Order: sequence, then structure tokens, then C-alpha cells
Amino acid sequence: MPVLENLKPQRVFYYFEEITKIPHGSGNTKEISDYLVAFAKNQGLRWIQDESNNVIIFKEASKGYEKVPSVMLQGHMDMVCEKKKGNTHDFTKDPLKLHIEGDYISADGTTLGGDDGIAVAYGLALLEDDTLEHPALEVVFTVDEEIGLLGASALDASCLNAKYLINLDSEEEGILWAGCAGGMTAVTKLPVRYQECTGMKWKIRVSGLLGGHSGAEIDKNRANATLILARFLKECRQQGDYVLAELSGGLKDNAIPRDAEALILADTETGEKIAAYADIFTQALRKEYAGCDEGITVTAEPLGQGAEPALHPVSLEKVLFFLLNYPNGIQKMCGFIDGLVETSCNLGITALTPEALCGSASVRSSVGTAKQALADKIAYLTEFLGGDFTAEGDYPSWEYRQNSHLRTVMVQVYRKLYGKEPEVQVIHAGLECGLFYEKIPGLDCVSIGPDMKDIHTSEEKLSISSVQRVWDYLVEVLREIKE
Ligand SMILES: [Zn+2]
Repeated sequence: MPVLENLKPQRVFYYFEEITKIPHGSGNTKEISDYLVAFAKNQGLRWIQDESNNVIIFKEASKGYEKVPSVMLQGHMDMVCEKKKGNTHDFTKDPLKLHIEGDYISADGTTLGGDDGIAVAYGLALLEDDTLEHPALEVVFTVDEEIGLLGASALDASCLNAKYLINLDSEEEGILWAGCAGGMTAVTKLPVRYQECTGMKWKIRVSGLLGGHSGAEIDKNRANATLILARFLKECRQQGDYVLAELSGGLKDNAIPRDAEALILADTETGEKIAAYADIFTQALRKEYAGCDEGITVTAEPLGQGAEPALHPVSLEKVLFFLLNYPNGIQKMCGFIDGLVETSCNLGITALTPEALCGSASVRSSVGTAKQALADKIAYLTEFLGGDFTAEGDYPSWEYRQNSHLRTVMVQVYRKLYGKEPEVQVIHAGLECGLFYEKIPGLDCVSIGPDMKDIHTSEEKLSISSVQRVWDYLVEVLREIKE
């Protein structure tokens, strides 16, 4: 029995549920891509499927809209696959188990893929409905957005004529996104040397931090666990000499690290002083981060005598110098949009391997030259210390336009339907719009979507009433874009 059968708009929820039966995690999109092609064939609509599995479906303008410029509707077909610990769901073959609770749809112990399955469902429901009024539609379903905007990046836009783009990959109803940051992953490899050392081993741990998304939460003044650890390692040298055997912090380049740890070797007396200093340091940090990250805890725990390869003193110096001078956090705020972060950097993953200190950071900016300058600064710091720098997954920003016809129409329709103003915002994170904006000169874009909670986690939820309102809104925008 379908779970969403009685929800309205019926065809939107029908397609949403169909999609959840087809495995479509990032990197596994052939089956859903073929499903979209089969849909187009069935409907007698022109379609393109490219080598990456991106699908574009075209629909002609309805009567009276033949002269209006084409509208691209766009979302990504891949989803993030996350599940609760112990859940046996197999994302390569099992259908999701849907649940309705109050106003929310979720999946049993897994991500739901409302991000961005709802865009696919909206697209298909619009394409099959011959009663709607709209300009020519170019509905673009991309692959692998969640692993670096790969589909949008590879897509050949020469077959697209759209002047307007409505991207459907946002998670908050009532916000019209009108620009986004570009970014890249800045990767550093700093060669290090080790020597065999003996002594009392101490595990240094930094924990209790809030962390967060490196784009959306970079302006919340949260601490970076790895950089707190580096500062501790520098300051505690006043307690006596130690050698550093291990160091690691963070899990993803786009997440602010919440934990970091190091293994040092020192004599018992120095180790005890360092452990005592950890308490003083913890209190100082909690004061510094009062009101924004005050659960920070730094500890040093003895693990007994032992022998370990530890960094040569010159390597230790380089590692600490690198970390303490890393341009982390907000670099500049936007000069013309209040509260918008323009340029930032998050050193997300740091690990000491047998060969090198490896650092991986997410660099973002809504200004292309500022992004490049920040990357150059990290490269300079890295190379000055004898390391190698590479920039990976570079993607362009989508610049805010002072004049946007699409946005004007969308603001008016929102006001008309809901009797209030939508918020117009620019996001300090990457959206596929940036890539389309770069490929199609003069493209006028807005990004919207229905309310979702906890995306990319097993708690992901999609609001039913919001899906309905955003559908009505979308239909009305397409009708009104004529003027
Ligand atoms: Zn998404």
C-alpha cells in the first residue's frame, strides 16, 4: 500500500513515493536516471540523457506563452545515504520505508531524500500536467550534487535556452535565495620526519565543541577543535619538553571539527604539569567562547610508558606554525548585504600520517577573486614550509543581481498568495545555480524549496503542508512570469 496516497498534491506525492522505491544515493543514479527517461518517453516529451546520467526533459509552452522566454526548473536526483547506527537498510537495493507523523514525512531510520527528491517529484508532476499555464520548460535533473556538484559541472548547457532558472534545492519555505558562494577544497601536504622516542605517553583530547556546517554556521563564532589543540600544544611547551607522535582532528572538510586529539611523549613530571595546565586552559577557553561554544574541554590522560615514532623537532615546529597561522574562519563580511559572510575558510580535516601533515579545508566566497586570494594565501603558507598545495573541486559563485525579473515576479506572487513578504537572501554555501550561472550568460536564477528538517541525517523530515504551498506557489509563478 502506498503510504502517501491520500496526500495532496496527489501527483507530487505519487512521484515522490515512486522515487523512494528506487535506490538513488550519490554515485548510484543510473536506475533513477533511466526512470526519468522512461517517464519522458511515456509522456511523449523530448529528453536528453548525458553520459553522467543527467536528464533534461523539455516541454513546450502552453497556449499564449509561446513568446515568453523558457524557464529551467532544476534539482538533483541523488540523495545522501545516512542511517541510524545498527540499521540494516541497504541503500543499493532496499526501498525507503516511509512514515507520516503529523505534518511530516520521514523514512524509517534513514535519510528520506526529500533533498532533493521533492524537486524531482515537482518536476515530473509539472511535466505531466497539461492543464497548467507556463512558458516552455526545460526541466533539468542532475546527478551527484551531494558529492561535489558533479552532474551540474559535467552538464553541457548548449542545449538549454532558458533565461530563467528556478532551482528547487532549498529547505526553507518563504526564503528566495538570490545568490550563493563559490568554493573549493584546499588540500595541504606538509612532509614530516619522525624519530623513535620513549617516555610517558599522554593522550591530549579536545572535545565538547558544537561544530556545525562550514558554510551555514561559520558565522556563529564556534571553535575549531584542531586549532584549539594546536594552540594548547604550543602553550603547554612552557610546562616542559614533549614530543608529538600523533595528531588528528575533524571528519569532513565542510564540517567545523568538534573533536581533535594528539599523542605526546614526555617525562612523568612534565606530563603531570601539562595535565594540570589542560584544566587551566579549559577554563580560559570556556571564558573566551562564552555564549558561543562554552562546552570546550581539553584533557591530558596518561597511557603508560612506551616507545613511539615522534616528530623530529623541526617537523613539530612546522606543524605548529602551520596550524597556528592557518587563515581559518570568516575572512570578510559582505559590504552590501547585512550579515552575509563573503569569504571564509574551515580547516575541516587534519591528520598526521607517517609521511606528512595533511590538511583539508573548505574555502568559500561569493567573490571569485577573494576566493582565489585566500587559496593563494594557504598555498603560500604551505609552500613556504616545504609542502604541496592543491585546490580540488573548484566551483563558481552565483552573484547576486541587483535587477532580477524572475525575483520580482516571485516576490509579487508570494505576497499575493500569502499576504506577506518573502525573505530574499544570499547563501554562504554552494548551490548548483553557480554552475548554471557560469554556463549560461545572463541567466536569472532564484532557488526555493519546501520546509525540511535535519537533511543529510537519519532524522530528515519533509513538511507535507509546505510541499503543498510551494507547489501552488510554483504553479502560480510559472503562470505569472508572462508579465
Ligand atoms: Zn540538495
